[in-house]
Amino acid sequence: MADIQALEQRLEGISVQDENQDANAHGAAHKSKGSLSHAISLSNLGSQAAQNRMKLPLQKIPTNAQSKTLQATSQTTSTTTTITKITLPSQAAQHQQRHSAESRDSEAEPITLLLPADTKLLKPKNFHLGMFEIGKPLGKGKFGRVYLARDRSTGFVCALKVLHKSELQQNKVEKQVRREIEIQSNLAHPNVLRLYGHFHDTKRIFLILEFAGKGELYKHLRKAQKFPEPLAAQYIAQMASALKYLHKKHVMHRDIKPENILLGLHGELKISDFGWSVHAPNNRRNTMCGTLDYLPPEMFKQGPENWYTEAIDLWSLGVLTYEFLVGEAPFEDTMAMTQRRIVRGDMTVPAFVSADAKDLITKLLVLDPAKRLSLEEVESHPWILKHCVKGERGTHQKSLGDKR
Ligand code: AMP
Repeated sequence: MADIQALEQRLEGISVQDENQDANAHGAAHKSKGSLSHAISLSNLGSQAAQNRMKLPLQKIPTNAQSKTLQATSQTTSTTTTITKITLPSQAAQHQQRHSAESRDSEAEPITLLLPADTKLLKPKNFHLGMFEIGKPLGKGKFGRVYLARDRSTGFVCALKVLHKSELQQNKVEKQVRREIEIQSNLAHPNVLRLYGHFHDTKRIFLILEFAGKGELYKHLRKAQKFPEPLAAQYIAQMASALKYLHKKHVMHRDIKPENILLGLHGELKISDFGWSVHAPNNRRNTMCGTLDYLPPEMFKQGPENWYTEAIDLWSLGVLTYEFLVGEAPFEDTMAMTQRRIVRGDMTVPAFVSADAKDLITKLLVLDPAKRLSLEEVESHPWILKHCVKGERGTHQKSLGDKR
């Protein structure tokens, strides 16, 4: 149990969260990261704005067929990624770690991951903690921390998320974590954060995640207050591309918001946090979940009418577009008022937002889910076409992203 535990103890006094919080007071008060690590009851919440951004408790957990094997996909043996700020333990500490890793290996319970046979670089692999050099902490969630890590044999850089089983049990989120792992490990898209694999020991679960070098989009948004339209349009195009991919796989994310989006080293957007996502082949769910500011009107309906489809992610995309351009969510208010305003579609787009962007927002924030723009229509909307070069839609435009 040595190195991560020791590192965690050593870091106990350091607020890792600080690295991820903007000094901007509004941002700090406003933000309440909703992830599986923040699925806590509303009664524990702080400020009104923070409450609205908290994930709502899951009302009904759908039963998923649980696959026994997980797929991890392409992990190249060389990486062109240059990590300039990687902070690895000293040589002596690394030497000690290697020893402790060896003894730790015997107590870990590795899970065999089946890798797809489409590239000869891949082979079945037992992941375990000793394989990784652990670097600096990247952030902290409610149930654990995320560290920069490097595969000792290949040099592959990734993020290692460490979740404590006891905390998952106490908070009754084991199913949610299992679902997150099942769903995310089967996804491979440039704008969806990759989950390469996972393993566990007696106390902890380790998720091997793609490293998102520029961190949380939320942090960038708070710093900028609002994004310039070209950048916002490129982000929305990337979101549309990712959501199209997810919906094709019958996955609804259900918790789209800036806190759940990370940025890659080149500023490309990566949807993460599949804690509330669901694989719904029949495309219809009636589970109350998500984050109040981003909830669609159909989720507030009672009874048999309370059905919703992947169109919920389209509503959230409208809320996201608004928040990117205005700096706050369109229905932000007291909790009761937010709900009331959502079911009425009561929002105003400020005059400084361009006519094209306003057109996209109002065509996504439509009360009737069937009447919302489709993701294809989002991709070919004049606002997107204006700001995204053909062929680069859905991916990052280097010139803009690198200015951040
Ligand atoms: P989470 O527990 O998933 O909410 O993660 C806590 C924090 O760690 C996030 O807010 C990010 O700042 C950071 N983080 C999580 N995953 C990654 C990743 N794959 N790459 C870089 N930073 C990450």
